[in-house]
Amino acid sequence: MSECIFCEIVAGRAPCHQVYEDDLVLGFMDAFPVAPGHTLVIPKQHAENLFEIRAECLAAVSRTSQALALGVRKALDPDGVMVMQLNGAAAGQTVFHYHTHLIPRAEGSVLSLHPRIPGNTEELESMASKIRSALD
Ligand code: 5GP
Ligand code: ZN
Repeated sequence: MSECIFCEIVAGRAPCHQVYEDDLVLGFMDAFPVAPGHTLVIPKQHAENLFEIRAECLAAVSRTSQALALGVRKALDPDGVMVMQLNGAAAGQTVFHYHTHLIPRAEGSVLSLHPRIPGNTEELESMASKIRSALD
């Protein structure tokens, strides 16, 4: 058992609502969404943060973040999509495996960074399914 929850997800030992997968990256729904459609993109190879990730993995995560942001926009039609990436506990990072957040934003809505409210399983899967369909 890895100590890293995202490595566990990559290995298939922990569940996720998957949106996208290729050789280098995985995209899936954030389990504690700050907004409906909150999606994460991670490299499959463990790297703690921006300072440590290999350039090839960084490029793959960036490419996929763009593709999935386009999918989120097409699927959910938000007013905007925020792409966020945190490095170090002082910056608010809580899972120490590099990831980008894709957060649909509504005009005037207030963002709470770590609400810690688990998403409803059916809603998470419904969002994942809508975004997957928008990628086809
Ligand atoms: P950070 O604060 O490190 O940038 O973001 C970590 C994100 O991972 C948080 O938004 C949190 O909700 C999410 N998260 C934590 N544990 C899990 C998990 O087991 N599964 C999924 N899908 N997301 C998680
Ligand atoms: Zn990891």
